[in-house]
Amino acid sequence: MEDRILINKPRITTVKQVRNETNDILTLFVQDKRCSAASPGQFAMIWVPGIGEIPMSLSFMDGKDTCGFTVKSIGKTSKALFNKKENDHIGIRGPYGNGFTPISGNCLLVGGGTGLSPLLPLTKILVKKGARVTLMLAGKSRNEIPFFKDAQDLLSNSKHKIIVTTDDGSYGLKGVASDHVTVLLKNEKYDKLYTCGPEIMLKKIFALAEKRIISIEVSLERYIKCGFGLCGSCSIGRYLLCLDGPVFSSKQLKEISNDFGISRRNINGEKTPI
Ligand SMILES: Cc1cc2nc3c(=O)[nH]c(=O)nc-3n(C[C@H](O)[C@H](O)[C@H](O)COP(=O)(O)OP(=O)(O)OC[C@H]3O[C@@H](n4cnc5c(N)ncnc54)[C@H](O)[C@@H]3O)c2cc1C
Repeated sequence: MEDRILINKPRITTVKQVRNETNDILTLFVQDKRCSAASPGQFAMIWVPGIGEIPMSLSFMDGKDTCGFTVKSIGKTSKALFNKKENDHIGIRGPYGNGFTPISGNCLLVGGGTGLSPLLPLTKILVKKGARVTLMLAGKSRNEIPFFKDAQDLLSNSKHKIIVTTDDGSYGLKGVASDHVTVLLKNEKYDKLYTCGPEIMLKKIFALAEKRIISIEVSLERYIKCGFGLCGSCSIGRYLLCLDGPVFSSKQLKEISNDFGISRRNINGEKTPI
């Protein structure tokens, strides 16, 4: 009980390192014992005092004292995070949510933009478990794709594969990720698919996995305020994303088919189309 209370209390920490990923994506590394021990797919609530608090997937966990999250500069809180420098202070609470279930078979991971954040620590675990990993890094353009160098370092063994896709063809294969996934699924048998990114992409990839009867886990985003199941702002069908997700199984995704890829709650709790 005491532990749960401490998880929900923002801990003020210092930015140890800022790593530029692309022009508008960077990774902030901070000292935090609890989040450094998180599982891939879990998220933290990151607080910029006086500005706001937003959920961020944990992209790095060293298991000792340091974790990292990867921010794309979009609105007011993410822009404020984007402008943080070494030694600046931020608040962090969590880790929250249910992460991915790693397996040791043939795995296909598809991440769109900052949707690659939770897939990076997952890749590390899968490699450790002896899985064969194909990692698809997808984005609208080259500037939307973080972690290429990390992926090369992690997947240097020739049994693994890295595929880069851009909608505009500025890097790697041209076209949307789901089209390339269609081709991969035709040519190879995967034991498990893991994906995170824009919901339209997730919905298409989910449909492809269903058609080929492949087990899939999908990490979704919703508007999160409390992060621990009190406020209901992240409700999706009969689930709360902060407690039951953000990673959902195919069984759960079928149960929330009226919301998945269709609607989400806005800041006022009203359902709006995606
Ligand atoms: C589980 C989870 C993990 C996430 N991981 C990452 C990540 O690794 N990297 C990353 O860049 N972004 C991530 N996001 C998105 C991030 O939380 C923010 O939504 C995004 O940074 C925009 O916030 P903002 O305040 O800058 O923008 P705003 O200008 O406030 O809002 C822009 C839009 O962002 C959405 N938004 C704002 N606040 C929240 C909130 N508290 N919860 C959910 N949506 C919100 C709203 O749809 C809004 O229309 C994640 C979201 C969730 C739910």
